[in-house]
Amino acid sequence: MEYWNAYTETLPREKLNKIELKYFQDLVSYGKAYSSLYKEKLKDIDAGDIKTFDDIKKVPFTYKEELRKWQENVEPFPYGGLLGVNIEDVCTFRQTSGTTGKPVYVPETYESWQWRIESWCHILWMAGFRPRHRVFLPFGYNVFVAFWEAHYAAEKLGCEVIPGGALDTKGRINKIMEMKVNAMAGTPTYILNIAQEAMAMGIDPKSLGIERILGAGEPLPEATRKKIEEAYNCKMFDHIGSTETCGFAGMCEAQQGLHIIEPFFLVELLDRETLSKEVSEGEQGVLIVTPLGRRSFPVIRFNTNDVAIKGPSTCECGRTSGKLMEIVGRVDDITKIRGVLFSPKTVEQLVRSEFPEIVEYELVVTCEGIMDRILARIEVDPKLGKDEAEIVAIRLSERHKIKTNLSCTTKVESQGTLPRYDLKAKRFKDMRGTH
Ligand SMILES: [Zn+2]
Repeated sequence: MEYWNAYTETLPREKLNKIELKYFQDLVSYGKAYSSLYKEKLKDIDAGDIKTFDDIKKVPFTYKEELRKWQENVEPFPYGGLLGVNIEDVCTFRQTSGTTGKPVYVPETYESWQWRIESWCHILWMAGFRPRHRVFLPFGYNVFVAFWEAHYAAEKLGCEVIPGGALDTKGRINKIMEMKVNAMAGTPTYILNIAQEAMAMGIDPKSLGIERILGAGEPLPEATRKKIEEAYNCKMFDHIGSTETCGFAGMCEAQQGLHIIEPFFLVELLDRETLSKEVSEGEQGVLIVTPLGRRSFPVIRFNTNDVAIKGPSTCECGRTSGKLMEIVGRVDDITKIRGVLFSPKTVEQLVRSEFPEIVEYELVVTCEGIMDRILARIEVDPKLGKDEAEIVAIRLSERHKIKTNLSCTTKVESQGTLPRYDLKAKRFKDMRGTH
């Protein structure tokens, strides 16, 4: 079976548009009736007036800030004006990580949770996960949504799921070997960390027998994806999603860009200047996402602040859904340093593709007087001598200058100085204050 849902995944564009428009209208009516946020926000919008895709653009965006605001001191606790159902129907709680402020609390009913899992089944199936896979999830199970969906969706697919919580990296490697695990889902940099730790234990990651890995929780630059494939001799897949939107696009066997899970989601990719026009193939746009089937927590036209490149409308796998090529970064992460536009992802790509000796890094931007300074802190392979480490540092500064047009100072740190992440890596620290 090639597709998880052979019918929806190969529907012609006109039919997908028709279904999504209908779902969108229904969601607007529902939101206005049941969520106090949308009752207020969409009071001047009539669902009946949304007759075309262009009409959708009349509906205002929803921002993360608003979600926070509508939970503060608004009943019922703790979901406030975001709740779209009776609180008695909520069966599970999740929250955002709160890395950019107060977390958003997310209510799920049994029905909405099943909807999330079903959309995730598409992501896993597309990435080649099958009932023969024994899937390991190397993640501390907690209040965040990450991996819970992967866990339940893998079960629904018929895989055998092994939860990898409450174990350190060594313990996880031992479990992988003990259980002859052949597939994983995890944070890309943590997956790399497992490979490094295995090597330190004298185990070749290739010998673990991992066939497939799905990346989750952080961006997966192409260079990192290839590096993981090489380290484990496996196939590595990406997906994109967030707690507010759910996972809305995944990578197929062609491994070129991400398929939007239609018609579960309406995904718009709008020009960065005016946020009003859909961009053309090959252009960068801001991702606006509407999860069309979730009622417990209706979110309409959520502005993700993520910038992606629009992909082609066809794919060799035969799926007809829209595609996103590269995820360029977050609008907030793209910043100006000494007047030059700078995306931390460029450095991630550089480190992962050209510097296998660098095991961890962090970029710190400070302002001294009126001058912005970039410091790259790196940890290198412990097998390297002091002089060799210094050569790596000099080479990184040189390549950084060529790639970004900005100078940086590179400092070699001793082993274990820099933080390791199994979720939401934060390798870019802008210490210049507000500007
Ligand atoms: Zn495809």
